[in-house]
Amino acid sequence: MTVSIKFCGAARTVTGSMHLISAGRTEALLDCGLFHGRRDETYEVNSGFAFNPQRLGSVVLSHAHIDHCGNIPTLIKKGYRSHIFATPPTKELCNYMIPDSGHVQQEDIKYVNKINKRRHLPPRFPLYTKREAEHSLKYLRSLDYHVKFALSKEVDLTFFEAGHILGSAVPVLDIKTSNGTMRIAYAVDLGRYGMPLLKDPEVPQDIDYLIIESTYGGRKHGSIQEAEDELADAVNRAISRAGKIIIPSFALERTQLIVFFISELIKRKKIKKIPLYVDSPLAVNLTKVFRDNWSYFDEITRLAFEKEEDPLGYDNISYITKINDSKRLNNEKGPMIIISASGMCENGRILHHLKNNIEDPRNMVIVIGFMAKNTLGRRIVERKKEVKIFGVPHRLNAEVITLNAFSSHADADGLVEYVKRCRGSLKKVFIVHGDEEQSKVLKANLKKLGLKASVPAKGETTYLSGDKA
Ligand SMILES: [Zn+2]
Ligand SMILES: [Zn+2]
Repeated sequence: MTVSIKFCGAARTVTGSMHLISAGRTEALLDCGLFHGRRDETYEVNSGFAFNPQRLGSVVLSHAHIDHCGNIPTLIKKGYRSHIFATPPTKELCNYMIPDSGHVQQEDIKYVNKINKRRHLPPRFPLYTKREAEHSLKYLRSLDYHVKFALSKEVDLTFFEAGHILGSAVPVLDIKTSNGTMRIAYAVDLGRYGMPLLKDPEVPQDIDYLIIESTYGGRKHGSIQEAEDELADAVNRAISRAGKIIIPSFALERTQLIVFFISELIKRKKIKKIPLYVDSPLAVNLTKVFRDNWSYFDEITRLAFEKEEDPLGYDNISYITKINDSKRLNNEKGPMIIISASGMCENGRILHHLKNNIEDPRNMVIVIGFMAKNTLGRRIVERKKEVKIFGVPHRLNAEVITLNAFSSHADADGLVEYVKRCRGSLKKVFIVHGDEEQSKVLKANLKKLGLKASVPAKGETTYLSGDKA
């Protein structure tokens, strides 16, 4: 039987994770993520597939970030009609994440069409709507960690912990070949050891082939402890001048993590208890999923939940869903902390908070996530004297703090460490989900260990040997 992997997305780039495993008559897709780029390129890349969706037997999701699950509605539109497997928390998170992605696309196209109308250009359509996204959810099936499930006669699936976000998994495929069982593990995205809330990543045994991410293949994170101290110093500085602290944040995981850190600092009396607002309807819904799935967190968090403590810091927060409540924050005096989406300041309520607050030097913007080129977030990180918001220039007088160490991805050392732990039976490592220069650094580091590794191109197919010898 021939076994192959076709790297259909997130090859030599970060977003759009999608890889097709063929084993005899079985075709299984690992992830069906959305590619993010400039508008036209994004539409073109996401609207087609490098395989026939109608022939596909199953889809397996690693986690609920949109670059891993966000193209499911397009797959359904193109005729896929079978199951999509995910861990129980991932399935629940997808219920909010995928429709929100449809909503964001509809809003974006509305804006484009307004401009097109003025220019007498034809209207455009979103990749998928919120309604189409909601329809696609009915194909999701939950499969718990460590439960072996037969996707077909030839292929079994088991989820292991990835430690990246709530529900994240390293899916492992056991493929029956004439030479015995071939084991493929998919560690994309991979988390860090010792992060609060989450369990540590697990290393499945006897892996033959490993597909691994490389977002930070050549970069190292600072320690969490240092980042926590920096966060406390920054918050105290803003409190001393009665400033408002604005934190742009991704709604999934990053928001819950920063709320956890702020609550810890309050509990340990490192910062004063000041009003903390989470102004993002999506984050509010996702936080509810976190609360309902507390049994999937690490031991310390689970014990705290059992004792009915407040490990995620809910008691300190005001959640805001209504737009009027959001607007009301403009009139309130600092100090206060406002956490809001979008993470890269491209759309959503964060724009209003930035517009209303960045000209006052008492205020502060704390950046805790990656800001891509050509985004407002990046211009703030670069501390431009003036930034445009809704087309209007604003002076950037607020203090800007960047804390990179809160990343939920393994860094250069973490990735190598993970591969080392898989080493015994490993025949080859395929490096994906990274800018090419990052993937190449990881490849070089693995070669130093005497391991075979490659950085496949998009569309490339690799044939695997089932021979255990
Ligand atoms: Zn992710
Ligand atoms: Zn990712």
